[in-house]
Amino acid sequence: MVLLLPWRAAAQPSLPPNELGRVMILEYHLIEEPEARWARTPANFRRDLERLRAQGYRLVGLTDYIAGRIALPSGTTPVILTFDDSSPGQLRFSERNGKVEVDPSSAVGIMEAFAREHPEFGLKATFYVLPGAKQPHKLFGQPEHEQAKLEYLVKRGFEIGNHTLWHANLAKYPEATVRQQLARAQAWVERLVPSYRLRTLALPMGAYPSQLEWAIRGSVNGTQYAHEAILMVAGGAAPSSFHRKFDPYHLPRIQATEPELQGWLKHFQQTPGDRYVSDGDPTTVRVRKERVDQVRQPLPAGLRLVGEAPTNPARP
Ligand SMILES: [Zn+2]
Repeated sequence: MVLLLPWRAAAQPSLPPNELGRVMILEYHLIEEPEARWARTPANFRRDLERLRAQGYRLVGLTDYIAGRIALPSGTTPVILTFDDSSPGQLRFSERNGKVEVDPSSAVGIMEAFAREHPEFGLKATFYVLPGAKQPHKLFGQPEHEQAKLEYLVKRGFEIGNHTLWHANLAKYPEATVRQQLARAQAWVERLVPSYRLRTLALPMGAYPSQLEWAIRGSVNGTQYAHEAILMVAGGAAPSSFHRKFDPYHLPRIQATEPELQGWLKHFQQTPGDRYVSDGDPTTVRVRKERVDQVRQPLPAGLRLVGEAPTNPARP
């Protein structure tokens, strides 16, 4: 018997598992005043987190999604946060009483405060940094704190990704330049955070080099780079990592502007069948029976496919 307590009734109606549903990879740029095409205000960013949480979304790390390691409670939906171009509003350090602290109005400060209040929401994001860009985009814009910021992100479990050395349009350059842009970004980061590997690449302006292989892996002057996934700048929600259409080298993203976010949140409310919903068991991939043939084969090691009859026959 299901006891409908008042606070249960007020919560998000629970959705049946759908581990072939799509996942939003949100893309943020500036976090600052005023709101603009490429800027989200700190207040609006915080509100985004609140809306996502209230609608049953939970943060997962990008590399966990790629690996198919989605360990979320039953009925919740993964969402991934990405930040491009390493501007100060994403991670600002400020001094208070002689102590250096994360500015609470920068994206990292906002996410940390939100996670303290709502630990179930999680604390994960990937930062696509520019180690050789002009200020204020060179590693978050405070030269004296560059190294401490990268160390801080790693220590707190955030991911750092490759966005080239200085935001190069990789479609415009020959192979040697493309590879240098990627390897030099890796070299910079590993000089500041020894042995850290940039595991994913976000393409500046979404521009692919003439040959995909150049972006995936290579070695320049003894520095190796290897990317498990490549992110575009647009394209909508991403396929489930268990879907046969999942292509880690062409992952679409959703730009986190007000109209885009509103549109996608509404879409997933109105079309829950398109939305990834976890079954609460990270070792199974639970999908509706009639969609079993859409599951990618083979699945990542250790995962078991479960095809289920619909739980709600009245489902549209
Ligand atoms: Zn960029």
